[in-house]
Amino acid sequence: MHELSIALSVVEAVEEFAAGYPGERVEEVRLRVGALAGVEAEALDFSFAVVCEGTALAGARLAIEHVPAVVRCRPCEREFAVRPPLDLRCPACGGGSVECASGRELEIAAVVLGTAEGADEREVAGDVPSP
Ligand SMILES: [Zn+2]
Repeated sequence: MHELSIALSVVEAVEEFAAGYPGERVEEVRLRVGALAGVEAEALDFSFAVVCEGTALAGARLAIEHVPAVVRCRPCEREFAVRPPLDLRCPACGGGSVECASGRELEIAAVVLGTAEGADEREVAGDVPSP
């Protein structure tokens, strides 16, 4: 299952990051997932909970931020959102030649670490390693 291997990559990356903060626990992992990333949020959420068991992330929440698919028209450079059913024609010039501007994201947006004094948000940069 695709989502399971993504969840594994995420948990591994966050474990490595959290190891730099001994005594703090991972409260929440925030993922940015593009509409074109080919990831099903529900399956990922389920996989994440399973993979977290027995790791430093046990009990952590997974927050998924959905990034809409946006494409850019090559001739006129207009950007527009794409929704199913997929219509890639430019609303401005009617051109059909587009490139992806956003929507393929699959990255860790932030990790929330908790201490005895309360939650403390720390940012992690970079893409989740591809499974
Ligand atoms: Zn156009």
